Amino acid sequence: MPPVKHDNRITHVRPDGRWEHRFRQSWLNTYFDCPERARREAYGEVDRVETDAANVGTALHYAAEDAIALLGEGILLDPYEVQDLWQKHWDQRNAELDIEFVKRTPAASQRYGLRAAEAFGAQVLPHLTPFATEIPFGPFVLHEDEQRVITATGTIDYIDAVHGMIDWKTASRPYEPWEKQRWAIQPTTYKVGGATVIPDLKSPWHDGPYNGPMGIWHYAVFPEAAQVKTQWIKCERIHDGWDGWLVNQLLPIAYQLEATERGDLPVWPLRDQHALCSPTWCPSWDTCKGMTLSADDLKSHKPRAPWA
Ligand code: SF4
Repeated sequence: MPPVKHDNRITHVRPDGRWEHRFRQSWLNTYFDCPERARREAYGEVDRVETDAANVGTALHYAAEDAIALLGEGILLDPYEVQDLWQKHWDQRNAELDIEFVKRTPAASQRYGLRAAEAFGAQVLPHLTPFATEIPFGPFVLHEDEQRVITATGTIDYIDAVHGMIDWKTASRPYEPWEKQRWAIQPTTYKVGGATVIPDLKSPWHDGPYNGPMGIWHYAVFPEAAQVKTQWIKCERIHDGWDGWLVNQLLPIAYQLEATERGDLPVWPLRDQHALCSPTWCPSWDTCKGMTLSADDLKSHKPRAPWA
């Protein structure tokens, strides 16, 4: 095997001389949005700054986890109490971390976070039957051959005893359900990862094993710009063909990582054909698309005939 020239956070060489690639769903999500952004993350070429958008979502996850733990003990919080939890976590994280406000002002972030927390408390929490929160899985082997081993690891936010896996999402706009069903990587990774841990999982609140649905995934989305405060999106990952498809997706990425380790692939494809390629989402903007174009160059014009 050629010498390893780089040091990324996903790939290493095992004692038996084979590559091992350890994938996390969140990094894969980034990869499918833009491979080059994911490469920079993997090789530590961007500072992982905490942004206001991520902070609103993380505070909501923490508030949901606290509220679900109390629900498991038989205490149902009202929406205002969930908002208090959100506020507590948001304040705490703002005090401890250097949050960069790139998407919203602090006041707008707070408004949106409280709206999402209220929606969670009013429209989601009363309908839950908690089975477990924060369930780690992996690393487990998805594929191996003579040259490489591909593993995956992650943490499932929440498993409901009746409804299966649910993930909480903050977002500017509602999601497209058909897109999520057709290609979202998170339900696929967690379907495969969940199958390795859920059968033996013990609940802190229930006796006996999990008897809920397998391969059913729900996003509970709290969109900022929408009338609806909670959008439910169901994804089915029941068919085992999703397992094979996941390997088919990961193998080419493994080849890319190996070529990069050998020094044969200094950059990865730049994908800017999505709304996220912007100064507010991509920490590499200034040294990538922003080197040749400004945010002004991205502005769209009113749709009208050129002679109007
Ligand atoms: S600026 Fe756009 S193309 Fe460049 S790394 Fe970021 S998301 Fe990718």
